[in-house]
Amino acid sequence: MINETAWKQLTEEFKSRNVTLVAVSKTKPAEDVQELYDLGQRDFGENYVQELVDKEAQLPKDIRWHYIGHLQSNKVKFIAPFVYMIHAVDSFKLLLEINKQAEKNSRTIGVLLQMHVASEETKFGMNEKEIVEFMSYYEAQKATLNNITIYGLMGMASFTDDEAQVRTEFALLSNTFKHLQQTYFLGNSSFNTLSMGMSGDYKIAMALGSTMVRIGSMLFGTRG
Ligand SMILES: *Cc1c(COP(=O)(O)O)cnc(C)c1O
Repeated sequence: MINETAWKQLTEEFKSRNVTLVAVSKTKPAEDVQELYDLGQRDFGENYVQELVDKEAQLPKDIRWHYIGHLQSNKVKFIAPFVYMIHAVDSFKLLLEINKQAEKNSRTIGVLLQMHVASEETKFGMNEKEIVEFMSYYEAQKATLNNITIYGLMGMASFTDDEAQVRTEFALLSNTFKHLQQTYFLGNSSFNTLSMGMSGDYKIAMALGSTMVRIGSMLFGTRG
């Protein structure tokens, strides 16, 4: 069951700030996605390849599917025919594979670079040094990468009640985003997306400049 009131409130709150709401439907049935779609929601996020493939087959074709989980290179081919944006690019090898599969499908796939800012070691993503390395490969090869568009940066804060820590982590993401914008993507208006914030911390994320928020449990209820 979906929370229609929460969806309306979030949609209002985000519209005035030009923030995109990605409804994270992982583990929830396709019927729930359809219900939110019927209210007008079009951006949905999933983090398991098979689950995303199954849902995509059952649901309206104008949904923009965001893949928000860790993605293995050998699975890109399954989602390349339809995925709109891949949030968690954490290696240049993965970027190359996305470009290759997008080309096979005669499409362009949007990507975000995932930055690791949380204290937990289990969270994926690149640190600042790895992002710089990634960008040097990208700079050298971007003329051949015609089937991907880098839209920006994505990250997750630590799972903690310590708001100051969450703020510090989001500030690091936000500063890195601005830095990349002003160095590698100067004059490139596509590099405009900072994906940060979830049900528990989206207000802090918005205050620090988030342009895309990924909300699951507030809309669909807690996951089992
Ligand atoms: C599950 C998930 C979310 C949504 O989390 P909620 O706390 O349910 O809002 C957002 N981003 C990523 C990467 C996720 O895996």
